[in-house]
Parts: sequence; C-alpha cells; structure tokens
Amino acid sequence: MAASFVDKARITIRAGNGGAGAVAFHREKYMAAGGPDGGDGGRGGNIIFTVDDNMSTLMDFRYKRKYVAENGMPGQGKRCYGRDGESLYIKVPRGTIIRDTETGAVMHDMSTGEDWVAAKGGRGGWGNMHFATPTRQVPHFAKPGLPGESHDVTLELKLLADVGLVGFPNVGKSTLLSVVSKAHPKIANYHFTTLYPNLGVVYVDEGRSFVMADIPGIIEGASEGAGLGHDFLRHIDRCRLLVHLVDVSGSEGRDPVEDFDAICSELREYSPELAERPMIVAANKCDLLGDERENIERLRRMAEASGCEFFELSAATHEGTRELVQACARRLAELPPIAPFEADYVPPEPVIESAEDLEISHFDDMWIVEGPWLQRLVATVNFSDYESRMFFDRVLREAGVFERMEQMGVKDGDTVSMYDLMFEYKD
Ligand code: GDP
Ligand code: MG
Repeated sequence: MAASFVDKARITIRAGNGGAGAVAFHREKYMAAGGPDGGDGGRGGNIIFTVDDNMSTLMDFRYKRKYVAENGMPGQGKRCYGRDGESLYIKVPRGTIIRDTETGAVMHDMSTGEDWVAAKGGRGGWGNMHFATPTRQVPHFAKPGLPGESHDVTLELKLLADVGLVGFPNVGKSTLLSVVSKAHPKIANYHFTTLYPNLGVVYVDEGRSFVMADIPGIIEGASEGAGLGHDFLRHIDRCRLLVHLVDVSGSEGRDPVEDFDAICSELREYSPELAERPMIVAANKCDLLGDERENIERLRRMAEASGCEFFELSAATHEGTRELVQACARRLAELPPIAPFEADYVPPEPVIESAEDLEISHFDDMWIVEGPWLQRLVATVNFSDYESRMFFDRVLREAGVFERMEQMGVKDGDTVSMYDLMFEYKD
C-alpha cells in the first residue's frame, strides 16, 4: 500500500532550442539579386514550474517523465523573425522541492507560489540580414539556434502545513480535520484509510486561518521502515506545530499512555529535530468514556510532564474542537513562519575548452569565430568600456586567434562575427 504513494518523482526537463536564422535574399522585379533579408530564428520556450493549489500529490509525474518545451521557429525571408517557442508550464503542488538529480542539491522550493524558470530556451540564430554590409558580397549563411537547457530533476513533496496531525491509525485524525476544515478526507473504521495526506484550511475567525495536514497513521516501527514509514513522516518535517491525537476510549483495546509514548519515540527515531517541535496533546473520543476519567487524567499528566498543552475533545460530537483550534492559532502566532528551503545547488563549472577548440570559418569577407571558450569570453566583456575591449583584444591575440585567421587569409576590412559582437578586421 505504501508503495502506491508517490511523493517523489524524477523527471527530465528540456527547454526549446532556438530556431535557425534564415538565409534569404530580397527579390524585386527588375533586380537580379537583392540584399540578404533572412530573419532571425525564434527563442526556444522555457520550462517553468508553477504552483497549483488543487494538487496535493506528485501522482501526475508517475507516468510522464519527460517534459520538453517548444523549439523556436526558424527565421524567414523578408526579415521575418521566427516565432518564439511556447514555454511549458509544469504544475506542482505547493511546497514541492526541486532538486538536481545528480547531486541531490536543492535548486528551488516551490513554497512561495511564484513561478520558477528551471530551464531557459536557446536563443534563435541570426539570419543573414545581420551579415549584410555595403561592401559584402551576398552572404550565403546564417547562424543556427542555440540548444535549450536541459536537466534531470527530482521533485519532492513535503506538504506545507502549519499544523501536522499525528497519532496511531484510527484515533480520529481524518475526522477531526473534516470537522475543523472544509477538507473531506476518507473516514472509515479501518487502519490506513488515509493513504494520501490531506490538507485543510482551518478558519479560526475573521482573517485568521492556518493549514492543517492529516498525516496517515504512524505505526510502531515506522521509523525503521516497517509499514507506512518514512514516506509519510517526511510530510510533517515542515509543520510548525504538531497536534498529537490520542484515542482515550480504549475502543481498540490500547492504552492511551502507551500510545502516546510509542508515537513520541517514533518521531524521535525519525528525526530528533522533529521530536522537539512544539506539540499539543489532544485526547479524542471522550464521548465514549462517560464518567470514566482515569484514561484522560493519566494522559493529561503524561502530556504535562512532557511540557505539552492538553485538550479533551470528541471529533464525533465536535465537543472541544473549537478550543483546540483556538489553541493552535495562539501557538502559531508565536512561532516563526515555515522556513523555505535554501537553494544550495551550484551549477557545475563548465569544462574550460581551450582557444584551440575554436572553429573559424569564412564566407568571402565574412568571418565567423565560434566555440564555448569564446562564447564565455564575449559574455564577460563590456564592449562599451575601452579597458574591457583592450582586454578582449589581448586575450584573443594571446590565444593566437588572429594569427590563425591571418594564415587563413583574413584581409583588412573583412567583417568578423563573434557571437553578439561584430567588428571590422584591422591589420
Ligand atoms: P484516522 O485513522 O486517525 O484518520 O481515524 P478516522 O478519522 O478515520 O476515524 C476512525 C474511526 O473512529 C471512524 O470510525 C470514526 O468515525 C471514529 N471516530 C473518530 N473520532 C471519534 C470520536 O470523537 N468519537 C467516536 N465515538 N468515534 C470517533
Ligand atoms: Mg485517517
């Protein structure tokens, strides 16, 4: 059963490639051949994650693993730009953490509700209209688009709830959530009814509300991997406050104090930090007890000895539920907000290719110099700054770029294209 619960998913995302620039020539009557007028290719679509508050699991990602945004369209004649590729929006539940699959590092936390661009589309290539100069002969080339970014990412859902309900199966967690919120969790007199954690918004009073999560039953040994173990405990990691619900009616033949102890040690086993989280203890099913108060009092002493506030209630008759909700709201007001995960993903240093990997090609008097090394170099230079231009010139010279071009026959006045930069060659 636990295996059917999906709260982790590994997917591949790929942004669209840029469209190719066009090679085209202006044609008019009575003109043998017009100037180059091939337009640029469109930008590839981005991959964007967006929060959908109607989602509470990562189920949708179980079967679909590959997400690809649209490529940019190629440029066309008459200086027409290619259309940009459509971005692909991937909907995820609030609180989904996006990790780099390879390193496990956190890339982003989808808690705030803001969209996040995870992979950028490639830029479109320049059409041949860019390579037109008054003196140049017809340029029969254009640039291809750049590839879109791609990434293997792992989505991980940790519910974003202020309050997490913990307790043995069948103590009444789902019932309580349905009573205090508009959530409609499955309720049945059967262990493990709740296979999916449920979230509900609890309205306290005008303008005051909080989110409560019904966490499926923790059973003894869960933290060691037995039964519905860690998959579920993971969901309460981020709750600010725990409500520990205990069945005091003895209706299942268990002892409330032993239950309380067992759950507390499960929490400690799973995460000592979680065990330190502020906790309110709530004795449920008091309606079944009548005048018999011994169980309630024993649990109360236990809770108070552990420094927890204590409440008696009946989720079935609603008795005491209001007081519990008020107490939760009071505690939450004093507690810090849910901390978003800090991104700790560092993009890997690209392998530094040497200047020798540069590709130099030319079409008549138009020179194109390309290569990852050069692309990075161009990106670092501020061409409106003299010093910066001189630095660029020196680096190219030292790398032997001009020497190679000279050997290939570059002439004074030829045009050189290096990514965003185009300049006239001077001896
Ligand atoms: P969960 O497993 O903790 O989510 O428990 P459920 O909410 O599914 O409840 C288990 C059973 O206990 C159901 O049959 C509920 O109707 C019943 N129950 C829940 N709360 C109360 C209560 O306060 N009094 C009584 N008598 N029964 C309750
Ligand atoms: Mg339940």
